[in-house]
Amino acid sequence: MSDLQNKTDVILIGAGVMSSTLGSLLKELAPEWEIKVFEKLAKAGEESSNEWNNAGTGHAALCELNYTSEKSDQSIDISKAIKINEQFQLSRQFWSYLVDSNLIRNPQDFIMPIPHMSFVQGEADVNFLKKRFEALSDNPLFAGMEFSDDPEKLQEWIPLIMEGRTSNEPIAATKIDSGTDVNFGALTRMLFDHLKTKNVEVNYKHSVEDIKRTSDGLWQVKVHDMERGKTETHTAKFVFIGCGGGSLPLLQKTGIPESKHIGGFPVSGLFMVCKNDEVVEKHHAKVYGKAKVGAPPMSVPHLDTRYIDNKKTLLFGPFAGFSPKFLKSGSNFDLIGSVKPNNVITMLAAGMKEMALTKYLIQQVLLSNEKRLEELQEFIPNAKIEDWDIVVAGQRVQVIKDTAAGKGTLQFGTEVVSAADGSIAALLGASPGASTAVHVMLEVLEKCFPEHMMEWEMKIKEMIPSYGVSLVDNPELFHEIHEATAKSLGLTEEKELAFI
Ligand SMILES: Cc1cc2nc3c(=O)[nH]c(=O)nc-3n(C[C@H](O)[C@H](O)[C@H](O)COP(=O)(O)OP(=O)(O)OC[C@H]3O[C@@H](n4cnc5c(N)ncnc54)[C@H](O)[C@@H]3O)c2cc1C
Repeated sequence: MSDLQNKTDVILIGAGVMSSTLGSLLKELAPEWEIKVFEKLAKAGEESSNEWNNAGTGHAALCELNYTSEKSDQSIDISKAIKINEQFQLSRQFWSYLVDSNLIRNPQDFIMPIPHMSFVQGEADVNFLKKRFEALSDNPLFAGMEFSDDPEKLQEWIPLIMEGRTSNEPIAATKIDSGTDVNFGALTRMLFDHLKTKNVEVNYKHSVEDIKRTSDGLWQVKVHDMERGKTETHTAKFVFIGCGGGSLPLLQKTGIPESKHIGGFPVSGLFMVCKNDEVVEKHHAKVYGKAKVGAPPMSVPHLDTRYIDNKKTLLFGPFAGFSPKFLKSGSNFDLIGSVKPNNVITMLAAGMKEMALTKYLIQQVLLSNEKRLEELQEFIPNAKIEDWDIVVAGQRVQVIKDTAAGKGTLQFGTEVVSAADGSIAALLGASPGASTAVHVMLEVLEKCFPEHMMEWEMKIKEMIPSYGVSLVDNPELFHEIHEATAKSLGLTEEKELAFI
């Protein structure tokens, strides 16, 4: 094939939830644009987006305690929780639009209602949870949240967690029924199936090896066809690097100034998965605890009811750990290979600052199954080792960059890095992650296609009515959207929200 035939409008690298979301948005906004996807694995959604590689929580800050911190005056800062909840509402609206337009079907194959709960032990944490509940429960986005420190109520909510609990330590929980379990792997596969019907060319077993700018301002992508053992070059006006942990190495190859002084720190994960159906049946919630002192936010333990392959299952974790790989299917040389002259100081500074984190992660890697069981028993006192298997989760590559807080600062969020002219963008970081894919991909559109945003605005608002509007300041709109999306997505078990 000549280079001329390989010219296209858009190249999406990586077939995870992010590329699938961006492709789906673009196909609605600019249906005539030609899009090609290159994915090095044999299927879509096989890395972090795969259902076994992430926790499947529809992150709306309903139960994750790290999104509400205690301020110096001991009041609770809920600003981050509001931000994340609003971002998740954008995803719900876009998914609903796709379902209502028959572009994807059977939402139960990727999203299910499940109560989201926070569970704490010890007086200090019970006080924190109560204050958090008081700060959130008046807020329209968190309406319907309940708090209890009454063992009888807790027995009703979380029998598996209460069974065999002998300690006199105070305990408490909050519960909100509007939480969700999202199978991001299934969603990714559905979105790629949909894209194929819109003439998007999806190439599996095609690994992108290099990206260079051409003299006429296009991007030339060197792709290795792994099955045929051939190398091809493709050019595009716009490239999105949606390679999850693999995004940083490709971003570095672009040579754009924005790619400099950035590093990545990989964090691996493990889940315990319950193989005893009787135990699985006794639990029905996602229950998030509090991170141990010194532990990073992504290692908050949680006990989750999940729906995978239409089967109810129970997972506990994740146990964070250290691995030098940037992808689960990556290489042990990924971390060292990402150290470049322009980011070596940033990386060294992070190394010095984050000794405690590195030590924590190495300790986690060395945990024996018995030690993991002890952590599980803080949630399920009667847990037995023979009921649980271990599954290896995906890799999360945390961004390291120089910020106002100093050189080599570890970031726990996601970052869109794009060229000044908007011709290329990469997504780095993995938190809150897939739940906020729509928000993050809208950010890519805003950064990379400012000249089209006015023309696209009406269509975006048709798909995502709350685009550009604060839901916390418009409780009626939130109520309307929440109800409509619950209906479209079949989240019918959700209780009617108590609106004031
Ligand atoms: C343990 C864990 C728990 C998590 N829990 C949650 C959760 O509960 N809720 C939530 O919302 N998010 C969660 N996340 C985060 C979420 O999984 C990620 O943010 C999201 O899946 C990232 O999607 P992506 O498309 O960017 O990357 P990925 O899904 O990793 O996809 C990237 C794709 O790019 C491909 N690729 C890489 N390099 C190349 C190359 N050179 N050429 C071609 N293809 C390439 C890969 O093979 C892969 O298919 C979790 C993540 C982990 C690891």
